[in-house]
Amino acid sequence: MPLSQEALFKVALNLEDPWYIKRIDFSAEEKQLDIHVDFKSGSKYSCAKCGKPNCGVHDTIERTWRHLNFFQFKTYIHCRVPRTKCDDCGVKQVKVPWARKGSGFTLLMDSMIVLMAQHMTVTAIAEMIDEHDTRIWRVLEHYVMEARSHEDFSEIKSVGVDETSRAKGHKYVSVFIDLDESRVVHVCEGKDASTIESFKSDLEQHKGSSENISSFCCDMSPAFISGIENSFPNASITFDKFHVMKLMNEAIDKVRREEQSHNALLKKTRYVWLKNPENLTLKQNETLKPLKDLRLKTLKAYNIKLALRDFWNYTNPHSAEDYLKRWYFWATHSRLNPVIDCAKTVKQHWNGINNYIKTKINNGILEGTNSLIQAAKDSARGFRSTKNFIITIYLRTGKLKFNLPT
Ligand SMILES: [Zn+2]
Repeated sequence: MPLSQEALFKVALNLEDPWYIKRIDFSAEEKQLDIHVDFKSGSKYSCAKCGKPNCGVHDTIERTWRHLNFFQFKTYIHCRVPRTKCDDCGVKQVKVPWARKGSGFTLLMDSMIVLMAQHMTVTAIAEMIDEHDTRIWRVLEHYVMEARSHEDFSEIKSVGVDETSRAKGHKYVSVFIDLDESRVVHVCEGKDASTIESFKSDLEQHKGSSENISSFCCDMSPAFISGIENSFPNASITFDKFHVMKLMNEAIDKVRREEQSHNALLKKTRYVWLKNPENLTLKQNETLKPLKDLRLKTLKAYNIKLALRDFWNYTNPHSAEDYLKRWYFWATHSRLNPVIDCAKTVKQHWNGINNYIKTKINNGILEGTNSLIQAAKDSARGFRSTKNFIITIYLRTGKLKFNLPT
């Protein structure tokens, strides 16, 4: 016996008794498919709140859910959902198997949205499925929060923290990474000591312990340092090498700008000095070559940077520290004020910089994460809020396990 259209859709939607498809309306003009689901009369249900079985139907309430498109046709499921009357809980709407409570999308639609959001911006998804983006953000928030509630942080030992923002002028968020697993484990607003507190309490809410954290990688901001010292007594701090090099680059840039004001040869050479030599373009290499024969302050600063860069390759802590001492002597005797300032900052953060040779941790993963975040922020206004920006970071870099049908 061939299946009727209704029976076919019942199988496709995975519907089980007492649910059945009463009617299917197909409008070619409106490009819409409406599936009307109903339940067999006399059916009993469990109370949605306490689970008590065999509750009778008290009344029904009309509901509609957006489902996956059927080819190019927008598809909706309609149903009069029964409400049970339980002696203990009163009148409650029963759980339908195709959608979660309070959602206007079916579970399969949710599933597709979560999948797409890992590769597309929400603005693009909203346009593609023709729904308002705030509805999509609500779906994403639900699944991210739900997946995070099952996270286990008991194995976390090594943590990196850095800040980012969805765009210039927007609020900063601090991103915490489990450096062993390369996954974002905590994101919160701000970039001060309170964010370290926020991470600590989140860690403890997920079976983690502040005592277990043996190393922390961060930039040289006093707020992070004091926060870590207060909240993570067993953690040694390693300063992120990329931030140290950034400081050195800023010193070069100051020297160049000053020198450029009376030396036209330095015009348009900014990135020649800031980029790593191996990353220079052919043209930039050609620009740099003749400059290397001149007695330039900028060149001196540049050579001091290249020397600092070699420090990170050391593996023996003693040789490394000796080397850094010699570098410090050179830098502080360079008679270049920005370079001297940079060297003094290095001196002030001596132990945390030398720690790198032992721990070899850095926030480079965060840079990679940042590029994922960057990919998600092709339009900062597409996020609408810092909360949505945080949801996106978790979604793309949290390695979360979503509880969704496949
Ligand atoms: Zn009940």
